[in-house]
Order: sequence, then structure tokens, then C-alpha cells
Amino acid sequence: METMEKIKMTTPLVEMDGDEMTRVLWGWIKEKLILPFVDLKTEYYDLSLLHRNATKDQVTFDAAYAAKRLGVAVKCATITPNRQRLEEYPELTELWKSPNGTIRAILDGTAFRAPILLPFLKPAVRNWEKPITVARHAYGDVYKAVDLRTEEPGTAELVFHGDSGRESRLDVQKVSGGAVWLAQHNTEKSIRSFSRSCFQYAIDTRQDLWFSAKDTISKIYDQTFKEIFQEEYDQRYRADFDRLGLTYFYTLIDDAVARVIRSKGGFIWALKNYDGDVMSDMIATAFGSLAMMTSVLVSPEGVTEFEAAHGTVTKHYYRCRRGEKTSTNPIATIFAWSGALRKRGQLDNLPRLSAFADALEDACLETLKAGTVTGDLAGLAEPGFACTVVDSETYLDAAAARLREKL
Ligand code: NAP
Ligand code: MG
Repeated sequence: METMEKIKMTTPLVEMDGDEMTRVLWGWIKEKLILPFVDLKTEYYDLSLLHRNATKDQVTFDAAYAAKRLGVAVKCATITPNRQRLEEYPELTELWKSPNGTIRAILDGTAFRAPILLPFLKPAVRNWEKPITVARHAYGDVYKAVDLRTEEPGTAELVFHGDSGRESRLDVQKVSGGAVWLAQHNTEKSIRSFSRSCFQYAIDTRQDLWFSAKDTISKIYDQTFKEIFQEEYDQRYRADFDRLGLTYFYTLIDDAVARVIRSKGGFIWALKNYDGDVMSDMIATAFGSLAMMTSVLVSPEGVTEFEAAHGTVTKHYYRCRRGEKTSTNPIATIFAWSGALRKRGQLDNLPRLSAFADALEDACLETLKAGTVTGDLAGLAEPGFACTVVDSETYLDAAAARLREKL
């Protein structure tokens, strides 16, 4: 290996560095698992909180536009500041918005969350054998709704003022006492982008796509989602699906829930905003661990950003800063890197780079299967699984040794 020539890249990856424990892991992952083997090319953006603050968050925008330009990005978890963080970072001039929100808005992307499976972590649903990827629509509905509480008898109306001067009016309900009201919306453009990201990702990952909503009750709202998905499928994606032997279907959400539970996994489940919020947490929990969950943001044009689904693991960072060794699980962050390198390899026709990504993932999982694990996994493992809990660096060294043997 020492004499092996490092794997070449042609186009750089967009590298978005982050905060706290995941930033520490980021450095070790590069040093131990990537730089010794790959002649790494990245365009580096430091999205740590203080650098976002120093640049008035410009760095987040620059990183997102770089992703748009270069096509593939890898992102470290970042702090979304709240009031409490002001005590720790008094120099903050603003409570900067979530970088993920900013990047998602610029790329107009959809986040796909998928678990990484291990034989000694049994999903709560015993028949699940493959990952279930949840795609949540990230715009509108109840998240951009207005609501109202009224106390007296009366009538509510819904009025739309068209820019042309045309008005549409609808009686909502006449009530005889106190009531609560809600008006929500979505846009055709956003629904269409969502559907395109879903079809694109299904093609990229060679998985079937399911979409579910409640069109039997929501005869215009949810029906519109269903129609847009079907239109996009028929006009743009059906030929590719047929060629790859993939299936797209729409089904009522009640039916989808039953089918998901009875399934073996191995598909993408697209959901409206609220359904996706709830179902993604349920699926993640049923698969076992947030530390084993990856997240991929895909734009309708196919720009892809890879990250771990978890946050910056603050509590571990505080211990690390005091000089303690922590047993933080680096797997989801490593898989963000391998996902990005594999994608770069596919786009630039560099089979050695894609093969390296496979070897990296295999080496990391084999190390765990052989019993060298982080504390969170030991706690979740099936009874009888013989393992040794190690700190993050020891784990990464063991994975690097295995990777070296593979290359
Ligand atoms: P978190 O960082 O995901 O951590 C929550 C807890 O989950 C940890 O304390 C730890 O439990 C466990 N955990 C998560 N990842 C782990 C890993 N890799 N290995 C071992 N254990 C892991 O969530 P949070 O504490 O709510 O948020 C911390 C910061 O992250 C916040 O500032 C938030 O804004 C940010 N955040 C960023 C993103 C993102 O950039 N995508 C996403 C979510 C949150 P134990 O302490 O019990 O070991
Ligand atoms: Mg949720």
C-alpha cells in the first residue's frame, strides 16, 4: 500500500466543514481514512458557527452555490444557534438560520434519509431486511400555514385575490361557538421539484419509489400532489424506470403504512411535509440509531449533498474539550464522504474512486461486525453479540487498517 499511487480525482467535491464533535471526527476521517489513499480535491467552505458569523452567513450561500456548480457536496453537521448558544458564543451578531435550510432552499432540494444496516442491530420490524429511505417534502402545508382561534358564532371564508383581479371564494364553515381555523398552501413549482428529486434519486440509487397521501379525503389538495407526480413520471421518468426495471406507484397513506410494515424494505417512500416529519422519525427509531442514519439532499437537476442525519453531538464535544476520549459513532459521517466520493467517481467516470468508496464502507462495517464498536452500538446490539467498546480514534484506526488490506 505504501507504494500504491493515490487515487486521482478530476473535479473537486464541495467540502462543508462544521461544528463541535462532528468537526473533530471530520478531521480524523480525512486524516485516517481518505487522505492516505485519495489525492483529494475539494473546494473547502468552513460552515462552523463563528465563521458563518464572521462572514454574515455569506459562506453558507457560497457553499450552496458551489454545490450547484460542481454537482456534489459533503457536509459536516453544524450548530443552528438558539438563544442558549449566545452564552457560549457572545460574539454572535445574529441567530443565524439553519445552514441546512439555506442550502435546501438554494438547491430547491429534497432530503432523503436512509439507515445503514448491521446484522447485529435488528430493526424493531423483524421482516425489514433492506433500508427504507424516506423522502420528505420540505416546503409548505402546515409548516407555512396561518391559524386562528375565534370565540363567537360566525362564518369563515377562504378568499384568493388573483393578480388579474379575479377572485375565488369558498365558504369554510359556519360555527355556533368557539372554533379553531387553519389555512395552508403549497405551490405547483415546489411539488414538481419534489417529485423530480424523488424520481431522480430513485433512478440514481436503483430503488422503487412509493408516494402516498390522502387524496380520497383531500380531493383537490392531495389530489394535485398525486397528479403532478403522475405527470412527471409519465413525461420524464417512465422510460428510465422501465429500462432499469423499477416501479413507481401512488397509494393511499393508510395502505402505504400497512405495506411498509409488511415489506422487506429496499425502496424510497415519498411523503408530504407533515407525514414525512412523523414517519421519518418512526422509521429511524425502528431501524435503531440516529448515529447510523444518512441524509442526502437531491435537487431536481440532480445536484447531491451528503451528510449524517444527526447533529454535532454537543455533549460528547464538551467531554472531548475537557481532554476525555469519547466513543462517538463516526459511521454516518464516513458514509457521507463515501457517498460523495462514489458520486464524483460516477459523474467523472473514475471507477477507482467509486471502488474506493465501496471499500471504505465495507472496511468500516466489517470492523463493527468483527466486534470493534462505539458505545452507542454496544448498547443497541442483540444479546450475545461479543464486542469491545472503543473510542472514536481507536475505531477509525482499526477501520483504516482493514481498508489498507483491501486496497
Ligand atoms: P445530536 O447532535 O444528534 O445528538 C443527540 C444525542 O444523540 C447525543 O447526545 C448522543 O446521545 C446521540 N448521538 C447522536 N449522534 C451520535 C453519534 N454519532 N454517536 C453517538 N451518539 C450520537 O442532536 P442535538 O444534541 O439535539 O443537537 C446538537 C447540535 O446539532 C445543535 O446545535 C443542533 O442545532 C445541531 N444539529 C445539526 C444538524 C445538521 O447539521 N444536520 C442536525 C441536527 C442537529 P448521548 O449523549 O446519549 O450519547
Ligand atoms: Mg420530526
